[in-house]
Amino acid sequence: MNPIKPVIIVHGGAKTITEDKVEANHIGCRAAVEAGWEVLSNGGSAAEAVEAAIQVLESDQTFNAGFGSTLNSEGEVEVDAAMMDGTTLSWGAVAAVQGLRHPISAARRIMEEKPRLLVARSGERFALEHGLAMCSKDDLIAEEQYQEWKEEAEVIDRPNTVGCVALDIHGNLVAATSTGGTTGQPQGRVGDTALVGCGLYADNRLGACSTTGDGESIIPVVLAKTAIDALAGDRHPQEAAQHAIATLKDRVEGEAGCILIDRQGRIGWAYNSQHMAVAYRTDELSEPATFIEKE
Ligand code: ASP
Repeated sequence: MNPIKPVIIVHGGAKTITEDKVEANHIGCRAAVEAGWEVLSNGGSAAEAVEAAIQVLESDQTFNAGFGSTLNSEGEVEVDAAMMDGTTLSWGAVAAVQGLRHPISAARRIMEEKPRLLVARSGERFALEHGLAMCSKDDLIAEEQYQEWKEEAEVIDRPNTVGCVALDIHGNLVAATSTGGTTGQPQGRVGDTALVGCGLYADNRLGACSTTGDGESIIPVVLAKTAIDALAGDRHPQEAAQHAIATLKDRVEGEAGCILIDRQGRIGWAYNSQHMAVAYRTDELSEPATFIEKE
């Protein structure tokens, strides 16, 4: 039997990326893939790889996740994150949490302990009790986000949400997504990111997917599960991704994007926003390929 070759893909959100942010998107997505690839190429698990990749994006204020997230109606960073394992179908999620350096790490611990969605104080308490990195609420606010919020500036270049999908050498697929939500969202609003089937899905029998975009449109078309179901019959992930985005557009409109890896390690992505930051690495590449537009 041929050894399984690892694959990793990340997205930095589907939206308009202004000229001055192009470089930062390439650099951030590349760094995330490199962190995940380091894990995978040393035989590490897909869960460890997606956590490492997303932690990089959550630390980078270019992206709307963790530090530098967009601010809610109260001027707070209040975030959602989730992870799903394609072997066991286990999953974990936090929503509307504050003061977590890496919400994705809380999602992974929950997934490994007992599948649950922990919101607000219960998610924060879980992170604290599990020794995860905490900080003051204000430490997650980037100056640029604060200025935009204070001035109620029109936001045009905010890449929304980050996500990652990985296949490890054991043939396990994991998907993960992390977001600061939508700009000025009411305190307590939760979009698709924390919801299995919507913001992410992973099933080793078919593939794994992470999504980004208008949560209120992604939820009713169960975007990630729609993409995964479209892989049936060994359909190419590129076609499945396009099918999922077309379904959203036809049924509810809105902007969205998704990234996929199927059980064979093939990749695909699609979006209907102006741009979507994406990077991936396979065994055939000597370094990550990065994009802000599909060529
Ligand atoms: N999907 C996220 C949400 O609705 C935000 C985004 O990706 O644009 O919270």
